[in-house]
Amino acid sequence: MEIEFAGAAREVTGSCHIVRFNGKTVLLDFGMFQGRRSETREKNAALPLEVREIDAVVLSHAHIDHAGRLPLLTARGYANPIYCTAATRDLSAVMLADSAHIQEKDAEFLAKRHREAVPPLYGMRDATTAVDRMVGLPYDTWFDVVPGLRASFTDAGHILGSASVILECMDGGTRKRIVFSGDVGRRGLPIIRDPKPPTGGADVVLLESTYGNRDHPPVAGARDQLARVVTETAARGGRLLVPAFSVGRTQELVYDLHILAREGKIPEIPIYIDSPLAIDATTVFAMHPEIFDQTEDLIQKVQDLFKFPLVRYTREATESKALNSQHGPMVIIAASGMAEAGRILHHLAHGASDPRNTILIVGFQAEHTLGRRIVERAPVLRVFGEDVPLRARVEVLAGYSAHGDRHELQQWLDAVRDGNAGAGVPDVYLVHGEPDAQDAFAEQLRTAGYPSVEAPVPHRTISI
Ligand SMILES: [Zn+2]
Ligand SMILES: [Zn+2]
Repeated sequence: MEIEFAGAAREVTGSCHIVRFNGKTVLLDFGMFQGRRSETREKNAALPLEVREIDAVVLSHAHIDHAGRLPLLTARGYANPIYCTAATRDLSAVMLADSAHIQEKDAEFLAKRHREAVPPLYGMRDATTAVDRMVGLPYDTWFDVVPGLRASFTDAGHILGSASVILECMDGGTRKRIVFSGDVGRRGLPIIRDPKPPTGGADVVLLESTYGNRDHPPVAGARDQLARVVTETAARGGRLLVPAFSVGRTQELVYDLHILAREGKIPEIPIYIDSPLAIDATTVFAMHPEIFDQTEDLIQKVQDLFKFPLVRYTREATESKALNSQHGPMVIIAASGMAEAGRILHHLAHGASDPRNTILIVGFQAEHTLGRRIVERAPVLRVFGEDVPLRARVEVLAGYSAHGDRHELQQWLDAVRDGNAGAGVPDVYLVHGEPDAQDAFAEQLRTAGYPSVEAPVPHRTISI
């Protein structure tokens, strides 16, 4: 068996690992590269292999950096299955449609600027056919990926429907097992269940390493900090602007704001969910109570988690623009999560220079994104080609991270290793991390008794 690291190798985005076994080829994820537009466009358009070579895809979760290039495959004739959990399929339906829309808009923009036709990376129809290829499966249930190679999903506790993948085959009479972490979440995140490390052992682990050099504050404190930030901003008469991923983070914030409102811990100011994608994703969340964390109080007590008197969902662009001329304190949660696109941009253009306002960062901000500039408190932001002085307060709540920190990642890995029941330590390949994080994490793991840890460069191929 061979694995080629074709994406998210020494970087965070573009998740894709190619597994070759017995003349068959399986992709683990096929995500979009994100970052500088000029660099990522070409990277995204180039496929790492011929579409006709691919026999199946196994998808860990619906985030665009994992699923975002699947429509490129169907656009080029891919007609084999894409295996994922049922919730991932439903979330992908809204996310890939949104991604297609962004691709079409981008192409229009480039065509105007360069006065030549630039085809979109893919269109709405390709996104729809990709979803049509998706087979939604339950967790903890074996299924055949290709003859001789079977797989099973365990809950990765990262976003709704997110999975770690166990791949198992018989190779020359011996059982071989690869565990792919997907993105590993954290214990105690709102709504979703805690990560469940695969049991039964592993020869090789492909482990994400986004926060391999970071310690997060506990999840438990995040809600109180959110209450503080909302209350302080309201007291200044300002707006709280939150760039947030439409899927996952937005629902968690709404859920926590719901709890805080019920407990009277935040002032009664309007909370706008200003993103059509977030609204659609919220509908998908509401469709999947079977995978909610049933131990949580609000889930036990409340029928509709995402509706309460303060929250308003603004679907129309005109409603979104109208918020600019509205007075008084408010909370605006809008995409995109790294402030690279979406409605958050016009809110930042309008609000970043006002010292009464707060920009609240609740997720990972990749290099070269506007979100990263905000975290670094750059004195001037560039929004829609204009300079906007950054005078609003900037608050970072790492407790909302949907990715485990270096301790949580190692705990997860230790649990997988313990499944080997003393019969050896798995080889570890770090994926989905920037070099600094990976190098520090590799060192940590070696010290902790993992003799073979590597952060493979793009297209490195290993034999198992
Ligand atoms: Zn993810
Ligand atoms: Zn990811």
